[in-house]
Amino acid sequence: MQLIKKIGNWLKHVFELEKFDYEKIVIEKEVVDGILELAQMTSPKEFIAFLEGRQRKKVLRIYGLAYQEYFANEHSTLSKINFPITSRIVGSVHSHPGPSNKPSGADLRFFSKRGMVHLIIKSPYREKDIQAYDIKGNKIVFEVVG
Ligand SMILES: [Zn+2]
Repeated sequence: MQLIKKIGNWLKHVFELEKFDYEKIVIEKEVVDGILELAQMTSPKEFIAFLEGRQRKKVLRIYGLAYQEYFANEHSTLSKINFPITSRIVGSVHSHPGPSNKPSGADLRFFSKRGMVHLIIKSPYREKDIQAYDIKGNKIVFEVVG
């Protein structure tokens, strides 16, 4: 995915939080619903968005989705991207229109740049189609909370 390479370089300036030592990841249900909706809306193209969250004690909580329509549009330019500076981006989520949510080589290089948790959702975009990975591409578990 070309888009992910471009964004990977740009991301160096976005992630302000480089190191967490979380033991547990929780994702708010609304965020999960947003991911399912975006993936379906964008299909058969891929979408990418960023996860907003914070760590309290040993729990990393994902409470928001920072999404720019530009990411879904391959003709757009990255210079248009403008996040609110209050966003606390802790990772990313992107979709795979196919049946695999395994990270590609480009995905792994992207994961390793910044962020704590990266989600991939595969077709047909149900909650159970989401897999979380750490920056090395190891699978990690998460819990969805109401
Ligand atoms: Zn991918």
